[in-house]
Amino acid sequence: MNREKRIPVIAGNWKMNCDRVKAKELICQLKETITNPVCGVVLCVPFTDLETAVELTKNTCLKVGAQNCHWAASGAFTGEISAGMLAEMGVEYVVLGHSERRQYFGETDETVNQRLRAALDAGLKPILCVGEVLSQREQGVTEEVVRQQVKIALGGVTKEEMENIIIAYEPVWAIGTGKTATAQQAEEVCGQIRGAVAQLYGQETAQALVVQYGGSMKPENAKELLSMENVDGGLIGGAALKAADFTAITEAANQ
Ligand code: PEP
Repeated sequence: MNREKRIPVIAGNWKMNCDRVKAKELICQLKETITNPVCGVVLCVPFTDLETAVELTKNTCLKVGAQNCHWAASGAFTGEISAGMLAEMGVEYVVLGHSERRQYFGETDETVNQRLRAALDAGLKPILCVGEVLSQREQGVTEEVVRQQVKIALGGVTKEEMENIIIAYEPVWAIGTGKTATAQQAEEVCGQIRGAVAQLYGQETAQALVVQYGGSMKPENAKELLSMENVDGGLIGGAALKAADFTAITEAANQ
């Protein structure tokens, strides 16, 4: 398989933004502007917007994702949401291991692995986020860091299950900062991620894997980033909250 056979996926990570009224407004705009994309389009919305999003996107090309899930099926985990609860609502995707979860909520590669396992068992498609912090890039250990994150997160995942996983390369220094990785930097690390997956599962699985770039992607830089051989789409934060910008990014992915 080569790049032409991979379908890029553009996923919006709304983070903790948009109450129900705003969510409704944004989804209704996106339904008008994103009608027949070649790429996959996923809206990863806050838990409280999931029901609205699932309802409004029925019979459209827009898919819905959550931004986290717990590893247990149920139990005494106050404030948490299980993968099964999301699947039952009609949610298809879940973002896991986002750097903000790692940075502010003690997420580790091991807990990401547990959550990923639970997501797959519930039939969800994980969008697994990996990426180095600035000091690691400056020390020249980006490849080691990203490889380790990928390897630990994928512990216990079978070759067949890899078909349902997306990996997003998100350099932490580029998230919400306005600093974008250059297309060459994105290409290099996305290629290394594909290489790590090839070591674990073989070339065929690695070549079929969707590897996104995320970090201040916007209409102005999307085309160049998305033209790279190993960049199969994007995980979009800030620009996902503006219908025109998010639509433009999906259009860049269609080219
Ligand atoms: C993100 O939160 O995953 C992200 C990429 O954010 P931004 O596009 O705002 O940098």
